[in-house]
Amino acid sequence: MTRLVLDVDTGIDDTLALCYLLASPEAELMGVVGTYGNVTARDSVRNNRAVLRLFGHGHIPVMLGCEAPSWADLFEVDEGCARFHGSNGLGNVDPTDYLPDGIAIGADAAGHDDDPAASARTSVAAFRGTLTKSVGGERVAIDATAESAALADAAAASREGEGVRFIVDAVRRYGRDVTVVATGPLTDVDAAIRLAPDIVPSLKLVIMGGSLTQEGNCYDLICETNIFQDPEAANRVFRSGADVTMIGLDVTHQCLMTRADADLWRATGTPCGAFLADMVRFYINANEASDPIFLAGSPLHDPLAAAVALDPTLVGLFDVNMMTETATGNGHGFRGRTIGDPTRLREPRKTSHVALTVDAPRFTATFRDRIAGLCAA
Ligand code: CA
Repeated sequence: MTRLVLDVDTGIDDTLALCYLLASPEAELMGVVGTYGNVTARDSVRNNRAVLRLFGHGHIPVMLGCEAPSWADLFEVDEGCARFHGSNGLGNVDPTDYLPDGIAIGADAAGHDDDPAASARTSVAAFRGTLTKSVGGERVAIDATAESAALADAAAASREGEGVRFIVDAVRRYGRDVTVVATGPLTDVDAAIRLAPDIVPSLKLVIMGGSLTQEGNCYDLICETNIFQDPEAANRVFRSGADVTMIGLDVTHQCLMTRADADLWRATGTPCGAFLADMVRFYINANEASDPIFLAGSPLHDPLAAAVALDPTLVGLFDVNMMTETATGNGHGFRGRTIGDPTRLREPRKTSHVALTVDAPRFTATFRDRIAGLCAA
């Protein structure tokens, strides 16, 4: 059995990663942390709860993670993310529409009920002059209002909130017997390390993010989206000394999902199968419209990270000490680029393990069949 904490910015492929873990008998999912990225952190929490309930796992606790990058007061979803994931993160499909009538909703094991983010609310609306907002990773200065200041207070509180503390507690309790899988920006993991530096030696982390040998998937074609959202957090995590397995575009672009996979899930005739097929149709349409390379299928970014956490033999790993550049210009590199760390090039211990090869046929077949089995159950 592999014990896991999943940290997600849910997200269509985050949902597929969550479903892959639910479908895998060797996975023991302790809890899910919802962070910002493809959607707001609160929408991520809401999506995770709704999906877990639809699939009959409403008891698994879902916690609110960081609501904004480490370098910003506020976060707003940009158009690019909505184009791939829909305005609600789930391809504009609502999982609660697929719940059979009369099903009891109830609370999860941590006692959360329907209102996902109540614990993060704050009554303190400290008024500041200006605030920094991240719009999908781009820096925007805004004049503070009472409303935006209250949201900034809530975002600041989330850096030491229940999601971050859940990661800290899990690693302190289980050490290397728990794997943290992060498939969004690394803000939560960074916040956990800053809150509790003692977890670093035993932190076992698998991330979806970055790229070492391929173009990025941001407009600059250098950065990968998750890293681009919070380069400072990613850099601190890479350089912390924690053990990081990086599942980047080098391998996720080799693992594609097709319409035939979705048809198989729909053919189970269950509400779960219909939900996933409807959601995935949006993702496949968006990927096909974005780039001819995805006419062959849509990349399984986050599910591959979840799968590697369970079975590292799916990928070939290159051991290297990684970093993330945090500024652009002469002498700096390019903000958001993931690259080897020259200051640790000669260190014998390599803390990062970058997947450069993948058994794509084995993974995509296992993914398709396990999800079909989950839908049929
Ligand atoms: Ca994600």
